[in-house]
Amino acid sequence: MAFITRLVANSGKSFASRLLIRCDKSGTNSWAICRSLSGLPRDQLSDRPNERQLIDNMSIEDIGDALNGVTEEQMDLRSTVRKFVEKELPEDTVQVMDRESNWSQFRKFWTKLGSMGLLGVTAESRFGGLELGYFEHSLVMEEISRCCAAIGLSYGAHSNLCVNQLTLNASEDQKQKYLPKLIDGSHVGALAMSEVSSGSDVVSMRTVAQRHKDYYVLNGSKFWITNALEADVLFVYAKTSDRGITPFIIEKGMEGFSIGQSIDKLGMRGSPTGELVFDNCKVPVANLVGQVDKGVYVLMSGLDYERLVLSAGPLGIMQSACEVAFSYAHQRSQFGQPIGHFQILQAKMADMYTRLSSSRAYLYNTARAVDEYKRRNGRIPLGSASPFTKECAGVILSLSETATQLALDAIQIMGGNGYSNEYSAGRLLRDAKLYEIGAGTQEIRRWLIGRQLNKLYQ
Ligand SMILES: Cc1cc2nc3c(=O)[nH]c(=O)nc-3n(C[C@H](O)[C@H](O)[C@H](O)COP(=O)(O)OP(=O)(O)OC[C@H]3O[C@@H](n4cnc5c(N)ncnc54)[C@H](O)[C@@H]3O)c2cc1C
Repeated sequence: MAFITRLVANSGKSFASRLLIRCDKSGTNSWAICRSLSGLPRDQLSDRPNERQLIDNMSIEDIGDALNGVTEEQMDLRSTVRKFVEKELPEDTVQVMDRESNWSQFRKFWTKLGSMGLLGVTAESRFGGLELGYFEHSLVMEEISRCCAAIGLSYGAHSNLCVNQLTLNASEDQKQKYLPKLIDGSHVGALAMSEVSSGSDVVSMRTVAQRHKDYYVLNGSKFWITNALEADVLFVYAKTSDRGITPFIIEKGMEGFSIGQSIDKLGMRGSPTGELVFDNCKVPVANLVGQVDKGVYVLMSGLDYERLVLSAGPLGIMQSACEVAFSYAHQRSQFGQPIGHFQILQAKMADMYTRLSSSRAYLYNTARAVDEYKRRNGRIPLGSASPFTKECAGVILSLSETATQLALDAIQIMGGNGYSNEYSAGRLLRDAKLYEIGAGTQEIRRWLIGRQLNKLYQ
């Protein structure tokens, strides 16, 4: 395919970045690479994967990328994001964030992500997005989560749950109004469906929106909302009749909208989770997304992409668990030799490595298939059955349990140190567990997959 090359420069910002974007003849961005980031000296940018930190002779991702047919451009994207997050989110910063359940640099980091285009990986370039696929989005999510799963979760909530849902479902006016600031990082985004009494049975939500002339009035509350405390723009579902729910775009500062309690959590402690309160909140009709009462289709189709991209969170955690445990196993000696040389620990490392590799293959192949389907067929019409629901639920079902197991294995390999908060393994376990609950629980995923399998035999 013939490509023309376009250089997009975000100058005049404190964190200037330049994106080299190749466009095919139709003008569609087929890939983009963050080439240089101010704040990172050129010699710290690794252009080839073999310049990256190596475990043995080849890093685990190098092998995984080769096995999974990751292209050079995608490796470059991974490598650039990795360099960036390793600099911005070093282990001591992540430890403090975990201890304090807060990160004072959250907004600053967001604008840096924004100037690299990473907040709009799947969004159209005319709004500042990279116009790439779910595959690339998953790579970015994986790399952020490898350094800090909590910030990875917030990133997923912003870039996928909010930005991608607006990209897929908002009107042209809504996109023009909200996407540029969400993508350049000056605004933080969130998505709210869950409530105290409506979790797995999310459609039973009680937040209501009643029409009054040219506005709706929302009443009720949302719970467990990632980024709630920081969010400027929120994609919020409310009941509009007995028959249906409808999504609305809510802005921070709207009359009758406030943030309730902040939720203290077991893990993901750098990701701000909270409650939203709607007390006669006036929302213009212009902020209604899609068709009245048809929000369940928006919600369900969004869950497929949410499960797919969020699966890269547990994958990043697994990568981190392997790195920390394998390197420990070669530094720590007992009985006169590195503990990694004992066969029983070799077996554990072998199991961790093969689980990581099969998880990576499952996610990458599914993401690639979803992108390829979209490229060939365009968007799946709302209300039509998605060919990917089972697979997207399957990927997160499998990867989230495996991440929890690998974090437990890392703790075991590290002995007492694995159980100490001085090391990251315990945090990895606490963070990994979230992915068995958020974006639909394991039980609901199994139920969904089982139901779809049964349909094949009807
Ligand atoms: C850190 C965090 C971040 C989150 N972020 C967001 C967000 O940004 N936006 C948002 O809208 N929501 C968010 N959530 C909410 C999340 O999606 C819900 O917690 C999840 O859907 C489960 O709902 P619940 O907690 O009410 O559990 P419940 O639905 O009460 O489930 C409790 C248990 O019952 C089981 N169960 C329920 N129904 C069935 C069934 N039919 N068959 C078998 N077992 C069943 C569940 O699997 C689970 O084990 C977040 C949650 C957490 C913890």
